[in-house]
Amino acid sequence: MRLEVKCNVENCKYWEKGDQCVADSIYVVGLNGREEAASVDETACKTFEEC
Ligand code: SF4
Repeated sequence: MRLEVKCNVENCKYWEKGDQCVADSIYVVGLNGREEAASVDETACKTFEEC
């Protein structure tokens, strides 16, 4: 079963209308090289590629 990933980063090459991420997989990291996050604001998608 494919996991649905919603995203609002419209200038990513994996973004499609309806806030759909169409990448085969995504890699989410903690900000600033950290491997822990205290809140959602401290996570980010590393798979992003500008289109
Ligand atoms: S790869 Fe990351 S930034 Fe790009 S559409 Fe998917 S979730 Fe968003």
